Amino acid sequence: MNQLQTMWSISRRKSLINCPRQYVLRYSRSQNNWSQINNHSAIKHSLSDLIIRSTRKVMLERLEDHKNGLEWSKRMISLKIRLGLKSEISPERYKIIRDSYKLRDLISNAKIKIDSLWDTTIFRRIINREIKHWSCLRRTKFYSDGHIDIFCSPDISYKIQNKWHLLRIDFQGEKTNSSTELEGLAMVNWAKNNHFLPVVAEQYIVHTLKHIKGYWVHEKYIPSDELLQQSKQLLEKDVNEMNKLVKKMGPLLDISQIPLSKNESTCNNCSFKPLCPAKDGLKSSQLEQEAIEYHNAKIYFELDRRNKVF
Ligand code: SF4
Repeated sequence: MNQLQTMWSISRRKSLINCPRQYVLRYSRSQNNWSQINNHSAIKHSLSDLIIRSTRKVMLERLEDHKNGLEWSKRMISLKIRLGLKSEISPERYKIIRDSYKLRDLISNAKIKIDSLWDTTIFRRIINREIKHWSCLRRTKFYSDGHIDIFCSPDISYKIQNKWHLLRIDFQGEKTNSSTELEGLAMVNWAKNNHFLPVVAEQYIVHTLKHIKGYWVHEKYIPSDELLQQSKQLLEKDVNEMNKLVKKMGPLLDISQIPLSKNESTCNNCSFKPLCPAKDGLKSSQLEQEAIEYHNAKIYFELDRRNKVF
């Protein structure tokens, strides 16, 4: 049976926009609570996605340790990233990739990202204790807005004078687009639903640090009630799109109805590639896909027309 889509997060949005089929395969069947979907059996992630997940945890752990006066050796970062990955996958899968060049490269790149993150202005101010009041937050904390559970917690919040700063760190950043600001401001709606944070929009400043093409790009947004309302609408529109996609599969959950990515680069890191028509090249499979979708749209149109006549 098709499941009603009720969850929104930046990763889900990215997947929806970059490849509808990837969204459906990865997320559409996991609409239960976080503890159930977080057992990693329900969602299939590529090795690079898992390394990103591990890197984020290592970043937060290193920061917390710094707060407690514990400094890490350079080797510790790579080791922790590897251990984090190991805990996410089956022993059989780990055995296969343990000594691979791919894994070594991914870990080495992740370590470079963490090192360069420590060199950004915000991180230097935290490490040098210029920013005194800060805390790390868990992305698993969500708030419910009507029928949608929204996972958009910042990674770090800090307070300078009377302003609360909400910072999200994206290890796989994408170029800024027309919705970037509203996506970021979703953090304020999250914070306003957190009992320990203020409810007034003007008390917040939103920051994102995105790793794009080897550099950390810092963006800053100032919320207003109007923008926060638009941000909520964006999320609702996304969930609506998610539901339309799932509905498109029909009662037989026919995945062939769901469009493929428009961009080959999305396929390169996709864990579903071996079983996807795009495995032999996106261009040729896209033409085939369009033909399938056109054929089915025609059948539905005919059925609909006949129902109206009779
Ligand atoms: S391989 Fe490409 S088209 Fe297929 S699901 Fe993955 S991203 Fe989408």
